[in-house]
Amino acid sequence: MLIEKYDLEVFTPPCEPGAERFAARARLTIDISEALPYLNATLRGAVYLPEAQALIWKKGGHNIAFHAYEVATSNVEDRDGAEKELKGLIDLINRTWERRAEITPDYTTRQRPTPMAIFKLLPQTNCKQCGEPTCYTFAIKLAASQKQLADCPPLAEPIYADKLAALESIVIEAPKIG
Ligand code: SF4
Repeated sequence: MLIEKYDLEVFTPPCEPGAERFAARARLTIDISEALPYLNATLRGAVYLPEAQALIWKKGGHNIAFHAYEVATSNVEDRDGAEKELKGLIDLINRTWERRAEITPDYTTRQRPTPMAIFKLLPQTNCKQCGEPTCYTFAIKLAASQKQLADCPPLAEPIYADKLAALESIVIEAPKIG
């Protein structure tokens, strides 16, 4: 077993005070960097960032990050859910590591989308609900991982479902854990 013990912390992200969402973080006592290319090979939509020794993944609306000594998840509805989610992720890492002889590790990464590529998929109404003066300003910040797709409320409307799905497939979002 790769991860035998870890310290678990569940909290409301300080960057979202008063939010009814929770984040959880497991601090590890061992370096799991070598497991990341195996996870990259098996997790659909994962983004491997070798220079940061990190892997970012989105699962069921939860933002997940695997780092050398830490696993984190955010955007979870309640404390129990956050704890359960994180325990599931630790099991996933251990299972993947145990199966590594059957998996071809994937060291490839994905390019960040340009602000223009993102802008083309936004509602382009400049409604300012995201706190930015224009959709293009939002696109610049989203491309730099300074904003999240959830910060644009209109994208949740059914008429933008196709655009949201396309954005989710190209945007690299880091978990918002403070
Ligand atoms: S909330 Fe969305 S639609 Fe409104 S300005 Fe921001 S990016 Fe554009």
